[in-house]
Amino acid sequence: MIVAVDGPAGSGKGTLTKLVAEKLNLQYIDTGAMYRCIALKMLEDGIGLEDTEKIKEILDNVKIDLDGTKVILNGRDVSKEIRTVEVSNFTSPVSTIDFIRTKMVELQRGLAKEKDVIMEGRDIGTVVFPDADIKIYLDATAEERAKRRVKQNEENGISSNYEQILKDIIERDTRDMSRPNSPLRKAEDAVVVDTTDAECEVNAQKIIDVIKSKM
Ligand code: C5P
Repeated sequence: MIVAVDGPAGSGKGTLTKLVAEKLNLQYIDTGAMYRCIALKMLEDGIGLEDTEKIKEILDNVKIDLDGTKVILNGRDVSKEIRTVEVSNFTSPVSTIDFIRTKMVELQRGLAKEKDVIMEGRDIGTVVFPDADIKIYLDATAEERAKRRVKQNEENGISSNYEQILKDIIERDTRDMSRPNSPLRKAEDAVVVDTTDAECEVNAQKIIDVIKSKM
């Protein structure tokens, strides 16, 4: 079974998808973490967006393990490093590069071969698994999403400023939605769950209800 969950930054995808995965015993796959790993590696190696050959080298040798809630890049736990503001902002342009997306989609399809998965991202219901059994599109206002990101950063010991985060979120949405390759959009057959007003548990239950109604 494949459950595809898409939506913009801060819509609750990470938290809710993880919770639903636990409750329904599905394998949780965070595809944003995969793009973040490539961005982190490029930043660390001083590789720019134009440096096609060097990026291809990274892709040829990359190993990303999504081990529960940990993200392991080439054997190293990068769960924290991939969440910094610098990596977040760089991931968005990195994820517009065609051949990077092709490679990530290939890896993502491979991950769903042997297990029942709930996979979250931007293009899961539209591009990675257009035939997914269940498609959910999560949304929330930009202000609410910025508030959540500030809180999440605090929990991870990263200092951040609300106005800046809101600006970054709006910029990132615009870039994710307007890129020609796999833009963020709701699949026609996706069910929209608005997460603005409700508690986490309530939103998770809404998702579980959608999944159960389609099973
Ligand atoms: O979900 P998260 O905020 O961690 O994703 C980081 C970035 O990775 C997004 O802003 C988006 O640009 C990119 N992304 C993507 N396609 C996906 C998942 C993430 O382009 N399936």
